Amino acid sequence: MREIHHFIDGQLKAASTGRFHNVYDPSTGKVQARVELGSADFLAEAVAGAKKAQPAWAATNPQKRARVMFAFKALLERDMEDLARLLSSEHGKTVADAKGDIQRGLEVIEFACGIPHLLKGEFTEGAGPGIDMYSMRQPLGVVAGITPFNFPAMIPMWMFGVAIACGNAFICKPSEKDPSVPMRLGELLQEAGLPDGIYQVVNGDKAVVDAILEHPDVKAVSFVGSSAVAEYIYAKGATYGKRVQAMGGAKNHAIILPDADLDQVTNDLIGAGYGSAGERCMAISVAVPVTDKVADALIERLKPRVEALKVGPSLDPDVDYGPLISHEHRKNVIRWIDKSVEEGAKLVVDGRKVSFQGYESGFYLGGSLIDQVKPHMDSYKTEIFGPVLQIARAEDFESAIALPNAHQYGNGTAIYTRNGRAAREFASRVEVGMVGINVPIPVPLAYHSFGGWKRSAFGDANQHGTEGVRFFTKVKTVTARWPEGAGAAEFVIPTMK
Ligand code: NAD
Repeated sequence: MREIHHFIDGQLKAASTGRFHNVYDPSTGKVQARVELGSADFLAEAVAGAKKAQPAWAATNPQKRARVMFAFKALLERDMEDLARLLSSEHGKTVADAKGDIQRGLEVIEFACGIPHLLKGEFTEGAGPGIDMYSMRQPLGVVAGITPFNFPAMIPMWMFGVAIACGNAFICKPSEKDPSVPMRLGELLQEAGLPDGIYQVVNGDKAVVDAILEHPDVKAVSFVGSSAVAEYIYAKGATYGKRVQAMGGAKNHAIILPDADLDQVTNDLIGAGYGSAGERCMAISVAVPVTDKVADALIERLKPRVEALKVGPSLDPDVDYGPLISHEHRKNVIRWIDKSVEEGAKLVVDGRKVSFQGYESGFYLGGSLIDQVKPHMDSYKTEIFGPVLQIARAEDFESAIALPNAHQYGNGTAIYTRNGRAAREFASRVEVGMVGINVPIPVPLAYHSFGGWKRSAFGDANQHGTEGVRFFTKVKTVTARWPEGAGAAEFVIPTMK
C-alpha cells in the first residue's frame, strides 16, 4: 500500500507515529493509499525547522521572493495535467474541474507575484518639525493553514501564496482525505527555488490541529472547513493569542425574480448546484423563485436537466460530476434527502439510487431536486454539501431577501433579474459576504478577497487580495527625528498644535 508522509525541510519525511488514515479513490470506493497522521512532537519539529529558515527568507528582498512565485506559477502550468489527475483521483471531481481548482490557486500565485508593490509602506515627510513618519508591513514568522478536502489545490494556495510572498514560513495541514496535491506543491515550490523549511506539510488530524493552535511559535492560523470546526479553531486560537481567520460552511441562495431569463437561470443552477457533486462552499443549494408561476416554470425546465445529469468516474471526460468524497458523506447526504421528505418537502427528482457497472462501490449520487422547502425545516437550515438543489418559494422580493438574511450562513448568494434597481438594492441589503448579480458562483478573483458573513466566517480578515496581505503581516510605524541640538524634556504627550 502506498504511504503518504510529510514534507519537511524540503524532503519527504516519515513521522513514525504508527497512525494512518485511509485515502480512497472515491470513483472505485477502494483505498488507494494511506496517509500518516503526525503528532504534536512531529509538528514541533516542523515548526522548529520553519522558524530557523524564516528570518533569511524574510530578509530576501521582495522582488526575489516574487521571482520564486513566478517560477512556481510556470511549474504549475507545466504540471497542470498531472496535478489535475492526482487531485481528481483522491477527491473525485472531474479532471476539468480539478484544473479549475488548480487554476484558481494559480491566480493567487499571480497576485503574490506583485508582492513588492503590495508591501510598500506609507511615508509622511515632515510629520512634525524635522520629523518623518513611516509604516512598514513585516511578516509574522511561522504561520499555519488548515485546509478542507474540497479544494485541495486552491485553498492551500489562497493561504501560502500570500503568506510566503510576505516573508513568512508556512505550515500546511491538509485534509487527511486528499493530501497528495499539497505534498506535490511542496516539491514544486522547492523546484521553483523556495528555500527548505519555508513550506512544510504536516499531515494529520485533530492532534496536529491542536498542536498547531497551542504552539507558541505559530503566530497565525488560517482555516477553511466546516463551521463547527471553524468556530473551535477561532476560539482556541484566540485563547493562545494567535491571529485567526476561520472560514466555515454555507447555504447559498439564488433569488430568481419574475423578470429573469429562466433559460440562463436553469443553466446556471445546473452548473452551480450539481458541479463537483455540490461539494463547493459556493455551490447554489437553494433556489428562491419569486412567485409560484416562476417556480413552476423553473422546475419544468430544471427537472429534465437534473434527470439527465451524467454522473460517473472522475477520470471519464464525459461526466458532469464524479463521486462524493467518502462513503460516510454519501450516507449523510442521503439522510438529509430522507429528512426533507419526512419534513414535508416534495422530492421532484430522486438521485439517491445510482450505480454503475464496474464501479458498484464508488461514492456516487445522482442529482436530487426538492421543492416546497420551508425555512423551519432542518434540511433547509443545514449545509447538505451534495448534489441536491432545494427550492424555497417566495411571494415577493421582501420575503425572498429575508431567507438568506435570516439564515445562519452568509457565504455567497446570487440574484437573477433584468432590473438594475432591484439588483442594486439586493446587493446592498443582503447579509452575505459575496454576491452575484446574474452570476451563480460569485467567487472573487485573487486580487479581491474571499470571505463570508455570520457562521460562514470567524475572524475579521478575508482570504487573499490585500486582506490576505494584511492578515499575514503586522504593521510597524516609525517616527524619526534628526535633531540639531538637545531639546528640552517634555512631560505632556506630544501633540500637533
Ligand atoms: P472539516 O471541517 O471536516 O475539515 C477541515 C479541516 O479541519 C481538515 O484539515 C480536518 O483535518 C480538520 N478537522 C476536522 N475535524 C476537526 C476537529 N474536530 N478538530 C480539529 N480539526 C479538525 O471540513 P471538510 O469536510 O474537509 O470540508 C468541507 C467543509 O468546508 C464544508 O462545510 C464547506 O462549506 C467548507 N468550506 C468552506 C469554505 C469557505 O471559504 N467558507 C471553502 C471550502 C470549504
